[in-house]
Amino acid sequence: MEEMKGIGVFPGVVTGKTAVFRHAILGNVDHILTDTPETELESFRNAHRSVLEEIKNINGSTKEERDMLAVYESMLTDPDFLSLIKENIAERRYNASWAVEAATEKYTSALAALGDAYFAERINDIRDAEGLLLSSIAGISSEVVVPEPAVLVADYLTPSELIQMDRSNVLGILLDTGGPTSHVAILCHSDEIPAILGLGDISSKTEDGDTVAMDAREGIAILSPDEKTLRSFRARKGIATRTEKELRKEADLPAVTLDGKQIHLMCNIEGVDGIDSVINAGAEGVGLFRTEFMVLGNLNDSEEKKAAAYEEVARRIGDRGPVTFRTYDLGGDKMADCMYEGEENPVLGWRAVRFCMERKDIFRSQLISILRASAVSPSVRLMFPMISGSEELLEVLGFLEEVKSECREKGIAFDENMKIGTMIETPSAAITADVLVNHVDFMSIGTNDLIQYTIAVDRGNEKIAHLYRPLHPAVLRLLKYVSDVAGKAGVPLSICGEMAGHVEYIPLLVGLGFDELSMTAHSVLEARKRIRELRADSCRDLADRILSLPDATKVEEALREFNEADNPQ
Ligand code: PEP
Ligand code: MG
Repeated sequence: MEEMKGIGVFPGVVTGKTAVFRHAILGNVDHILTDTPETELESFRNAHRSVLEEIKNINGSTKEERDMLAVYESMLTDPDFLSLIKENIAERRYNASWAVEAATEKYTSALAALGDAYFAERINDIRDAEGLLLSSIAGISSEVVVPEPAVLVADYLTPSELIQMDRSNVLGILLDTGGPTSHVAILCHSDEIPAILGLGDISSKTEDGDTVAMDAREGIAILSPDEKTLRSFRARKGIATRTEKELRKEADLPAVTLDGKQIHLMCNIEGVDGIDSVINAGAEGVGLFRTEFMVLGNLNDSEEKKAAAYEEVARRIGDRGPVTFRTYDLGGDKMADCMYEGEENPVLGWRAVRFCMERKDIFRSQLISILRASAVSPSVRLMFPMISGSEELLEVLGFLEEVKSECREKGIAFDENMKIGTMIETPSAAITADVLVNHVDFMSIGTNDLIQYTIAVDRGNEKIAHLYRPLHPAVLRLLKYVSDVAGKAGVPLSICGEMAGHVEYIPLLVGLGFDELSMTAHSVLEARKRIRELRADSCRDLADRILSLPDATKVEEALREFNEADNPQ
């Protein structure tokens, strides 16, 4: 039995068997001479067959993808390459992986020696194909599959792997890596999958079919628990289920403080599937629709398909509240297939509106789809992510105007009064909020990014997760400044980062003047309960006190004291 501690990102108590997924690690090939070349040949042939089949079944959706697949296929069917591998095994007695590695080395050196830029560029594709072969020989799958109900244990997961896998059998998720507001964490929260990230080396300590117990609220995973521990986790599970039921009973109650201040609770969703949870949580609309998640696998979805999805969301949310479509926030850890993956610093790189303004074909198609949805319901709003200043904002607003003119010319109906907003998630946007506010109908603060950029702490990196401190005075001063700016201008302002959904922060956010909070559906239930216990005037006093404190530790202490004293439980 071993207890491991990580970062719990969606609460839930689970006991069960594990399904382990590890990504292939290149460069770790064991150089072993074999006594059984026949077995190694067989292992290579099987791997070769299955990789070739896999490649033939992929339909490349972009030219880059199709070119890459063509390189894979030509390498894997090149008679010289194949006979070199067989020779390495049969004559030199290399094991199958070493034989592939040595043959690839020879193949790429020969290409590099040609000194031709085109062939030099193909070397990366050849290395990828080598990776597929090596993974297949090592029996490591490149697709995340959980065939029966189990807790998925993995080294890491990318947002697109998580989005594209069948999650119906996933009881919980345990990962070696990942920070508290990484996109994988956010997706687990939206999908209500109990998950613990940043566990260090859990994937190398676990094999398929091991027993595990996890309490994701506490961030604790127990490997091979004994009978007594299993019993105690089952009891915890019972308590968690009862609490959950109690919360759901209050879904129809208004989120109003004891002294009558109404707080509007909205949801963050990533796809059309999220609508039911918005309705079940009794939320007042969608404060953030992360549209990029719907296209991670295929950025070339037709305008028709996107418009139909957006229209469905608009129709079903009806007059509950706004439906805020954020334009594609691609890049960073949300790479679509056509994006350049070799950036040194993708989080500060070619992403969001920077990418969209260069790929106007993609941007135009999305803007038209959102405009079409605006004709369905006046609650549709459009919001731009990662805006860093007024020039950038004016450029995207200018492009939106162009697209609107095209729609008018083509007779495409849309709401001329559709509200347009900007996210405030870079420090530069927060500091110039007094300028940005003049150009938009609403603003929404993305604290996940705002925190990471303000205190220079990568939100996805578990090694420095303890330094990711939402209550850093620099963050709080920015929140207060933007809240004051919006209040003075009379422009609606919300928070749609994870901070909004954490019950312990809510008194402070209410005290700072925020009356619109957007979060995952499950958090809406907890936030509503907390708001109904609070007095807005005490929250304001709390915020005033906290804003004068010099560091995050003192703020955390002050907030903890307030929550303990004020929380009637
Ligand atoms: C944020 O940065 O707080 C935000 C809501 O956007 P995302 O989490 O998608 O980056
Ligand atoms: Mg963001």
